[in-house]
Amino acid sequence: MYIAIDDTDSKSGMCTTFLATELIKEFSELSLLDFPRLVRLNPNVPWKTRGNGAVVLELGYGKNKKNVIGEIDGETALWDGESALDEDIFQRTIDVVSSWAETDREGTDPGVVVGNIRPDIGLYHKGVTDIVTLEEVTNILDDLDLRYWGMGNRRGIIGAAAALAWVPLDCTYELISYRKRENWGTSRRINRDEVIALDKATKYTFDTFDYRENKQAIAPSSPCPVLYGVRGDEHEELKKSLGIIKSEEPERYLIFLTNQGTDDHIRDTNICDIRSYLSVHIRCSVASSPITIEGGHVLFEVTEDGSTITAAAYEPTKSFRGIVRQLIIGDEIELWGGIREEPLTVNVERLKVNNLVKKITKIANPECDSCGKRMSSVGKDAGYRCKRCSTKGDEDDALTEVVERKILEGWYEVPVVARRHLTKPLKRMCRGKEGYC
Ligand SMILES: [Zn+2]
Repeated sequence: MYIAIDDTDSKSGMCTTFLATELIKEFSELSLLDFPRLVRLNPNVPWKTRGNGAVVLELGYGKNKKNVIGEIDGETALWDGESALDEDIFQRTIDVVSSWAETDREGTDPGVVVGNIRPDIGLYHKGVTDIVTLEEVTNILDDLDLRYWGMGNRRGIIGAAAALAWVPLDCTYELISYRKRENWGTSRRINRDEVIALDKATKYTFDTFDYRENKQAIAPSSPCPVLYGVRGDEHEELKKSLGIIKSEEPERYLIFLTNQGTDDHIRDTNICDIRSYLSVHIRCSVASSPITIEGGHVLFEVTEDGSTITAAAYEPTKSFRGIVRQLIIGDEIELWGGIREEPLTVNVERLKVNNLVKKITKIANPECDSCGKRMSSVGKDAGYRCKRCSTKGDEDDALTEVVERKILEGWYEVPVVARRHLTKPLKRMCRGKEGYC
């Protein structure tokens, strides 16, 4: 039996993952048959609350079948009556969600999907990369006889159904701990040194501490019940956080299987096919010198096969902007990033420099071949002329030197504090038998 929920949180409070813990409490007679799943969906949709994450639980009788329907020769006869419980589980889920979801807040439109099968993975792919309509989703759910319920504009049904459709190809884990009720809404007492100690003590975690910006990255700043979340590739290792982060004691914790850090939101595409709300990967070359505009955002044009688009490293990407500023026209690069509704600009999350062009600057006008005197410029891009003997010189005759580039070919990513849930950290890029690079 699968239970999927989405959009129960608001900007001011509740968190959908906390409801997962409440649902596990509610269904204490059942076992979890798999890790609870935290599934992030398209980060570019304009109506998301915070992280656009939905939660899926798989519940059943597991090893502890409790549904005894008889006893034969001393052996209990068990009945796996999941389908018969559909209605009961569906209603109890709705009761839990409606009692906790912040439905009085604008923008909170919870949705629930309950049933015994998953929709086709295509629904997940669309939900994580693009826009899915409620009508599309309810048609799929009706065809599969899955039960669903929603409040407000019922948008949460979309996220719940898309999350339920996720089949993990690449996946990571997150241990999320929750605060004691009396601490909700107060500032979190997360000690910076403890977070660094946790980072040093764990090999397979990522996005824990931002050394470039000198900031912890495990505790949110919203007033939700989450104390902290630690992400990594090995779920057992995540439990080290419980012994290391001591500055505030959590009330409960739960480890989720997630699509965070997997790049599932990215589509390989061409510039001419870019449209609003997508997250894209493009191969291109730099077409204009990066400029810094008001607010500290850095913009530059990139081109590929005759099409051009603006790429942006916004102010929150901090030190990443310093790397982008080193790009010059002609550099061959790859970009990963999300597209807003308007204008069509790539919000860069990651950059790979494949080929740096030679940066050449003019140091002096050419000398005259005839009389040896330094020539004068005729005008911009118009060449040179000797004032003494009128000999002409080409633009190319000027004395130049190659300037050392302050950027190397290779990978660059935005700092941890600016990273999106779905973006694959470089640390995970070459994960193999030898572990992280
Ligand atoms: Zn001359």
